Amino acid sequence: MASTPPPPFSPSAPAPLGRPDDASSRGPSQALGVAVLGSTGSIGKSTLEVIAASGGLFHPHLLAAHTSVGPLLEQARIHRPAWVVVTDPAAAATIGATALPAGARLAVGPEALDDLVRAPEVDRVVSAIVGAAGLRSTLAALDAGKTVALANKETLVMAGALVMRLAAERGAVLLPVDSEHSAIHQALRSGTADEVVRVILTASGGPFRTRESLEGVTLEEALRHPTWSMGPKITIDSATMMNKALELIEARWLFDLPAEKLAVVVHPQSVVHSMVEFVDGSVIAQLSPPDMKLPIQYALSHPRRLDGPARRLDFRLGLRLDFEPPDPVRFPAVRLGHEAAARGGTAGAVLNAANEEAVGAFLAGKMRFTGIADVCARVLDGHAYQADPSLDDIRRLDAWARQEVVTWVSS
Ligand code: NDP
Ligand code: MG
Repeated sequence: MASTPPPPFSPSAPAPLGRPDDASSRGPSQALGVAVLGSTGSIGKSTLEVIAASGGLFHPHLLAAHTSVGPLLEQARIHRPAWVVVTDPAAAATIGATALPAGARLAVGPEALDDLVRAPEVDRVVSAIVGAAGLRSTLAALDAGKTVALANKETLVMAGALVMRLAAERGAVLLPVDSEHSAIHQALRSGTADEVVRVILTASGGPFRTRESLEGVTLEEALRHPTWSMGPKITIDSATMMNKALELIEARWLFDLPAEKLAVVVHPQSVVHSMVEFVDGSVIAQLSPPDMKLPIQYALSHPRRLDGPARRLDFRLGLRLDFEPPDPVRFPAVRLGHEAAARGGTAGAVLNAANEEAVGAFLAGKMRFTGIADVCARVLDGHAYQADPSLDDIRRLDAWARQEVVTWVSS
């Protein structure tokens, strides 16, 4: 019997999960246009490495940053995007008339970014702006029916129900970049939704996994992550394990899983990126060295797998994998994540906003390390919970939670 050839690659109608999507047969002239939101950040830079190593399969149509004008223009000179977007108008005003490389145009402000991600030349959007600021452009991309490679977990933590509804209504595809969720996404291909018993997110445990007391932790110590190199905000989130709390909420929405099916295990080597346990007792895991280029590439090329620049495991060198339960006393943030994932509604948005403000205060030397989880617990407990909030409700509670933290810090 003759086998059916895979359907031609169609950027405007991305293949649903599991359907062959022949990215590897496209020529350079048909490169997929990628909008890299947050291109000057840790994920943004890794994305550009993946694109540069793709042999012309992908082309950066748009690069966006907030204030890092110098690095952004340097990226534009190397990668030749059609658009350079600076979301901070004051930073954009420092760009001289001759600073843009030939062929690139400048756009300024978050509204311009929302418009440009909708362009027909954009086939994939990499959402890698840090924090709540990443929500609006991700919503714009989903509203336009784009395929979004989502690094900005805050989008789902804040507005998971709304975001997933919008994606379904518009036929948009949301693919995880977060390594745990990429691993889960890959492992879920081994069974059906009703065969899933548990999803187990791995956590490195951060720099303080074995430290007895977290009193007196300094900024320098908290920024020294043992296995991953990331932006400062998520590095602090890893040290408090609030990152795992946010990821529990992210998984709850992305995979439509009840909170009781989600678990966290500490795995210091960061090689097993997460696991799915099925009804027959099989646990399917995804393993690779801690290198974000792999999940970024998977989200760009899905459902195909491509050769790429990510580091590889070498079993000849020997490999040890350890697992242990998280310590709920030293890392209370994990419980907050379980709680917010179970409650849904406004809980994620409030936890995220309180944490973002608290991490900002810690980075500015205005808050103790242990104060971050403390203030988040108080703000989460004290907020006027709503089960089915609108975007306006979410924005209002986000602002309220931030103000609560500011008040707490100043007292
Ligand atoms: P970085 O801090 O390294 O980079 C943040 C990027 O966002 C920069 O390009 C920055 O521009 C831009 N940005 C900051 N504020 C704004 C704003 N108000 N409006 C528009 N753009 C803004 O962050 P990471 O790359 O580490 O993280 C990005 C996202 O990916 C986060 O949501 C994080 O949780 C997630 N993630 C990151 C991982 C990692 O390994 N780093 C792993 C998994 C998820 P500028 O340089 O001009 O300030
Ligand atoms: Mg992660």
